[in-house]
Amino acid sequence: MLSASQLATLAEHGEERTADAGDVLYRVGDRHYPFIAILEGEVSIVDAAGQEIVRHGPSRFLGELNLLSGQSVFVTALVTQPLRYIAVDRDVMRELLFEDGPLSDLVLSTFIARREALQTVEGIGVEIVGPHSSAATMRMLDYVRTNKVPFTWRDTATADAPVVRLPGGAELRAPSTGQVSRALGIGRELAPREEVDLLIVGGGPAGLGAAVYGASEGLDTLVVESTALGGQAGSSRRIENYLGFPAGITGTELTSRAVTQARKFGARPATPFRAVALEPGNGRHVVRLEEDHEIAARAVILATGAEYRRLACDDLADYEGLSVFYAAGPPESQLCGASRVAVVGGGNSAGQAAVWLARGGALVTLLHRRADLRETMSDYLIRELERFGVAVRDRSEIGALHGTDGHLEAVTLKSGERLPFSFLFFFLGAQPCTGWLGDTVARDENGFILTGADAHADHLLETSVPGIFAAGDVRSGSTKRCATAVGEGAMAVQLVHAHLGPTVARRPATTAPPV
Ligand SMILES: Cc1cc2nc3c(=O)[nH]c(=O)nc-3n(C[C@H](O)[C@H](O)[C@H](O)COP(=O)(O)OP(=O)(O)OC[C@H]3O[C@@H](n4cnc5c(N)ncnc54)[C@H](O)[C@@H]3O)c2cc1C
Repeated sequence: MLSASQLATLAEHGEERTADAGDVLYRVGDRHYPFIAILEGEVSIVDAAGQEIVRHGPSRFLGELNLLSGQSVFVTALVTQPLRYIAVDRDVMRELLFEDGPLSDLVLSTFIARREALQTVEGIGVEIVGPHSSAATMRMLDYVRTNKVPFTWRDTATADAPVVRLPGGAELRAPSTGQVSRALGIGRELAPREEVDLLIVGGGPAGLGAAVYGASEGLDTLVVESTALGGQAGSSRRIENYLGFPAGITGTELTSRAVTQARKFGARPATPFRAVALEPGNGRHVVRLEEDHEIAARAVILATGAEYRRLACDDLADYEGLSVFYAAGPPESQLCGASRVAVVGGGNSAGQAAVWLARGGALVTLLHRRADLRETMSDYLIRELERFGVAVRDRSEIGALHGTDGHLEAVTLKSGERLPFSFLFFFLGAQPCTGWLGDTVARDENGFILTGADAHADHLLETSVPGIFAAGDVRSGSTKRCATAVGEGAMAVQLVHAHLGPTVARRPATTAPPV
């Protein structure tokens, strides 16, 4: 609910309007709509089939995350009682959120909660049609899941799989994730060649940390991200140990806040653009992206983090996306319902997922390979596992999966024991996303990027190539935590300044929100 003073602030920045019962304020598929705060009357939020999801009355506001991102609208707002409301243009609203902390807190957390709720409503968002056997279909599902786009999947054979139906009815046949992304209004277009002061590759906590500091200190800063801004942290149900959030913060909220902050200072995040090659140069380094884009940058920060390890099991791919997952969010929790679920892994990420799924009603067993969970998991999480009835099995490694058509029925442990499970969630640690770098920068035996003295570099986070830095989980020897990644991103920017010297004019940080 908006307070009287917040409504007054919104009135100063917007326009008072009226609407009659039966009027539509915005409908499924629209690309733009204003922020709407209700003064009098009532609005019903309905899905594409006209089913009501929720009603809003006086002092409530409409919208969800797409209002800020410019993404297509997933629902229709229908006036049910004569309405008097304040409409605030999206760009004006974004600026207001940059300035007004309490309003920003209320609006952002409500928008995030609404997106999570929409993810659990059948028939909202994009419809993906394609069989499980189609790798392109599974890639598309992965993409919508990580970007938290509400979706429905029809697991049926079709020509040109996947067929993707967008909110509003447009249909794409066998599109790339980039095409879907831009059709939905996510991310931004890039020119075939761009020149910037600072290019950050990877939009997790390290990349976003670097973006906030780079842009706020006047560097023309571009972030390219291959899947979804937020990185691993964005998939975390609740980060409990991040400074300043004593009650914990969800990965979605931390990411949304960080992206808003980076944009506020003028950093440009571009998704989904995967870096595929690095060509070190004299004065400018070139990073080549998928779809033939190239970025020439005076300095580059590599913040590509790490990605999950997969189980070494021949038929794993048959189950992925149907009953095997690598993140536990609202759609997965809803899918599992009260069934038997195993979470595999001994780290905090596994613990968080197990608690989240158990809270949703699933019967959860945590399987890990060591003798004692305390070796790898924080104490507070072990207590939470007990509290939510999660069974813990030590020294348990999966050897084989059993099921039909991708629907899991049981697993056999390496000990030979067979356990019935309908869903598996893997959190087996991660390997660095550095394959695309070839031998351009020195890496350790596990593929993590060497920096500082280990790379014979001048600066602490500099790689073996001057002007190319590494921060966060991708860096050899880094502490694999959110706060460290953010800190390293910020620190790398200082070292970028030291490398560039006074030749790069520090332009004033802008507060104008870029598209
Ligand atoms: C489920 C889960 C829960 C966690 N919980 C906690 C917690 O409670 N507390 C805590 O401190 N830490 C937690 N962590 C660890 C923390 O999230 C990581 O340490 C942190 O995200 C590392 O940040 P990063 O930016 O270095 O890398 P990442 O978060 O891995 O981000 C790297 C980004 O780079 C992108 N990328 C990769 N390759 C390319 C490419 N070629 N081109 C463009 N982009 C690319 C990736 O898509 C990704 O978005 C958790 C991790 C997980 C998975």
